[in-house]
Amino acid sequence: MTIEACDFKGKKVIVRVDFNVPLDENGKVTDETRIKGALPTLKKVLNDGGSVIMMSHMGKPKGKVNPKLSLSQIVSNVSNNLGVDVKFAPDCANAQAEADALKSGEALLLENLRFYPEEEGKPVGIDKADPQYEEAKKAMKTRQKKFAKKLASYADLYVNDAFGTAHRKHASTAVIADYFDENSKMLGFLMEKEVNAIDNVLKNAKHPFTAIIGGSKVSSKLGVLKNLIDKVDNLIIGGGMGFTFFKAQGGSIGNSLHEDELMPEALNVLRTAVEKGVNVYLSVATVAGNRFSNDADQQIFETHRIPDGWEGMDASPASLAIWKEVILSSKTILWNGPVGVFEFENFAKGTGEIAKYVAQATQNGAYSLVGGGDSVAAVNKFGLADKVSYVSTGGGAMLEAIEGKVLPGVAAIKGEN
Ligand code: AMP
Repeated sequence: MTIEACDFKGKKVIVRVDFNVPLDENGKVTDETRIKGALPTLKKVLNDGGSVIMMSHMGKPKGKVNPKLSLSQIVSNVSNNLGVDVKFAPDCANAQAEADALKSGEALLLENLRFYPEEEGKPVGIDKADPQYEEAKKAMKTRQKKFAKKLASYADLYVNDAFGTAHRKHASTAVIADYFDENSKMLGFLMEKEVNAIDNVLKNAKHPFTAIIGGSKVSSKLGVLKNLIDKVDNLIIGGGMGFTFFKAQGGSIGNSLHEDELMPEALNVLRTAVEKGVNVYLSVATVAGNRFSNDADQQIFETHRIPDGWEGMDASPASLAIWKEVILSSKTILWNGPVGVFEFENFAKGTGEIAKYVAQATQNGAYSLVGGGDSVAAVNKFGLADKVSYVSTGGGAMLEAIEGKVLPGVAAIKGEN
């Protein structure tokens, strides 16, 4: 079932949203982006004449009630955005009465799901090394099913619109789907957009397909590199992670960030790229600083000849000129990770340029997906978020998706593929 095709008239609909919004020390919401992201789905249900039961987690209360992480603090924000007075159920596992009382066009928000350990389904208070752990895990899985069944009992239909937690097999993101038949569960609009964006690059990419992978560590991007190497024509490797590749090839990288233990993997990636005919574009020269600071002295070195006392902190004009040509001749672009320490104004130029090239390629007709971690902050910083095809909201979930992993939250509704 698709949300567009569904008529919610007279139905009670439980929607897993991602209202894990940042709060200040007084419990005031400081950024409503995630609330706004769920509005198309919530409004569709209400406009059709259904009633909506919203459920979410906030923070990491680790299975215990924690007033600082109570979703009661966001009720007025949700009400204002939705345009209806949202009711609140202070115990998500005992909200039958509130759910039963809901009338068409009304909305109810359940308290933080993670006040119950059943939501995440991990046994609490027992160490993994404990011989009783497996037993405790099994018992918790049974409790998780019961918890999910309870949540399901509040509603006729289930919608998952929380892409940010789609990589977790939690009660509200995956297990609950077992209690609804195929025609009674669906992805929300935000989830659909994310899933379509991933399919556009991983399944239906137009070629040439270029991935720009940056960021700090090879270790956190290895899965991404391994999955993409089968799919892309061009692989641009930038940022701090690039230096591990240079060191592995025998270059001098000065004080640049690197992971010695990842050097064999880096060489593997390069070898596989040659086998598969993928063009790899490492940086040719690097803007280095004499210390890790915005005010550091700057000098440009060839990336394999950085002297001691200097560390690579941004992409150089020479690298950018090559990358620009590759990006502008691409039909599909996936960008994950900045190509320099973009948080420092004086080392943000390279990342800003990449954002511009991706925007320009998009204007010329390429499909571009920016996602997974800091690259999102980068396109926002340079004001180019609306000039790329899609900016993913789900950091960890997007990363796992581009690693080629099945997302439990999506699989629970759409099946394994
Ligand atoms: P990630 O979360 O892995 O995408 O990494 C993002 C982080 O990588 C940002 O905080 C950047 O400052 C950092 N980064 C990018 N390039 C470098 C570099 N050359 N040296 C140190 N950190 C870097």
